[in-house]
Parts: sequence; structure tokens; C-alpha cells
Amino acid sequence: MPELPEVEALAAFLRENAVGRVLARADLAAVQAIKTFDPPLSALAGLEITGAARHGKFLDLDVSGLHLVVHLARAGWLHWREKLPPAPPKPGKGPLALRVHLDDGNGFDLTEQGTRKGLAVYVVRSPAEVPGIARLGPDALEVDRETFARLMAGRSGQLKGALTDQTLVAGIGNAYSDEILHAARLSPFKMADKLTDDELVRLFDAVRATLTDALGRQVGQRAATMKGEKRSGLQVHARTGLPCPVCGDTVREVSFADTSLQYCPTCQTGGKPLADRRMSKLLR
Ligand SMILES: [Zn+2]
Repeated sequence: MPELPEVEALAAFLRENAVGRVLARADLAAVQAIKTFDPPLSALAGLEITGAARHGKFLDLDVSGLHLVVHLARAGWLHWREKLPPAPPKPGKGPLALRVHLDDGNGFDLTEQGTRKGLAVYVVRSPAEVPGIARLGPDALEVDRETFARLMAGRSGQLKGALTDQTLVAGIGNAYSDEILHAARLSPFKMADKLTDDELVRLFDAVRATLTDALGRQVGQRAATMKGEKRSGLQVHARTGLPCPVCGDTVREVSFADTSLQYCPTCQTGGKPLADRRMSKLLR
């Protein structure tokens, strides 16, 4: 899933390549992707793109005061296209959700792989009209240490859930929360309101360092190559069974119904593997 660094890099890419151009037409290929009806998608046609921004994991294209807001969900992505075919795409075929044509013949496709569709498109007069944006907590790269400490102290629940809760801190998802917890040498199951001052500092610094590093790798890349770059920078996420680059221990996984987390026992849990409820249920 695209998280803060990837969405920020997409916004930067669009600022360079789409801002200043006129949005010629937007073709909807997956009807379930659009979540608003007023203003209609067609209202964007003929207007200049005046800005591109990010709110948490939402991408926001300012089209002369109207906003085309996108949430890429789990398997969505933005593909920049040079010389788009002018014929409208066939609805409901393949991964294409929305195609945006610019006045110079270039444009971009929003696509989503897989059968579980979560990609969401909104056309609004203000980004705050998108419920998911209105609920966002402070941005993970902008929150200061005191606010961060206060938010964690007020949260009764595990760190993994706290870091990925967009209403608490915005922009961190499944992959970077694994990376942040590894960098901070903290268990994903540790309670957020039970952190010592030293642990809070480590966690805050790890949020900054992990996201800043990832952003440095992503920005300036072509939208097409960004996802591969995300993978190459990861230490524990999606690396089950591989050696931890810090200590050499084997990266382990805890599985849930529709997701999983990865961690290093030596770096994060005092060498003890965490209970994997699904695994122990199978073994019982
Ligand atoms: Zn390790």
C-alpha cells in the first residue's frame, strides 16, 4: 500500500509534470471508485491543474479550486502515461479505475490490482469534505515530539495499531510501521501508553528517520519505478525468513485475518518470538 513517502513522491511528480497543464478529460473505468457525485467528474474538464498535495495517504490534485482527491488503498497506483490513446477505456475491464487526460496528450492512469477494490476517488470543493481527510491526525512528518508523546500516552492499545491509526498520526501504514518499530527496537505488541521517556524518544526519532529516508529514495523517481524502490529500502517488512540486516537474526511474522506484520526478535522483543494466534490455532 502506498504510504506517506510514496504519496508525497507522487504529489511531487505531479507538481513537476501536471501542474500548469489543463485537465482535458477524466474517464471513469471503475464506477465503484468514485465516491462523490456533486460536483461531477466532468466539472474538472477544461480547468487548469494548479497544485498537487498530500494529506496523510490521500493525494490531492487542485484543479482551479476543485479537488480531485485519491486514496490508492492497498493495491492502487498512479501510472504516468505519455501520449494516451484518445478513445475512452472500456469500463469494468482490467485494473484501470480512472484515466486523466491532459491538454498536451499526456496523462495518468489510476489502477488497482486484485479483486478487493478499495481505491477511492472524490471530486470536492475542499479536501476537508473527504471524511477520511477530515478525521486525520497530525502528519507523521510534521508532528512535534511533545504532541507525539501526548498522543501515544493517550492511546490504550498496541503500538502497531497506534502507529497505523490515521486519526492518531497520519501517513503511516503497514510497511513503514514495521520499519519504524524495528528502527526503534520496540515490540509491535507493546502498549502505546506504557512507553518510557527513552522509548518515546526512540519511537519519535524512528518515525522521522524512517519516513525521511524513504522519501529521499522516492522523490525524483518516475512514478513507474517507485514501488520497487520502496521494497529495496525495507529491513523487516515483507522479509519473513530473511536475515535482519542489523543483527542477522531471522525476521519473523505474525499473521492476522487479512494482514501480517514482520519484526526481528533480537532487535525488538528480547529474542522471544511473538505468539502468532493463527499459527497456534492451527497447531492446537
Ligand atoms: Zn535484528
